Amino acid sequence: MMRKKMWKKMKKKTMSGDFADLYKRQQDFQLMVTGNETPVDICYEFCYHMNAMQEELGEVLKADKRWKTHRNAHYDRDEKLEELADVAITLMNLVMYSAFDSETFIDAIGKKISKNTENYKKAGHNNDSNS
Ligand SMILES: [Mg+2]
Repeated sequence: MMRKKMWKKMKKKTMSGDFADLYKRQQDFQLMVTGNETPVDICYEFCYHMNAMQEELGEVLKADKRWKTHRNAHYDRDEKLEELADVAITLMNLVMYSAFDSETFIDAIGKKISKNTENYKKAGHNNDSNS
């Protein structure tokens, strides 16, 4: 039991650390491209990346067209993965131009997942098969 808790804590720390490293690398990239030190609240940069997000989401759908009722044969797994990575990078840009650091963002995701889980169970669903 104790070991299981330690493993869970280590795993959480590692995952958070991995994200923090990626976030820092993306901050460095933004600094190189725009000259902006982030995290910072810059509305026009946020709007730019909101538009970019629309494009990236479209590229994900284009890589996997199985959702369509017609002309739905195209599916490129590698392309889809690359476009999903673009979505994640663009999300980082949205977060950093909203003046949130990686730790705050990861913490907010964890809290929101817990809240969604609680709300789902409170609504009478109690299927633990996915946990
Ligand atoms: Mg793309």
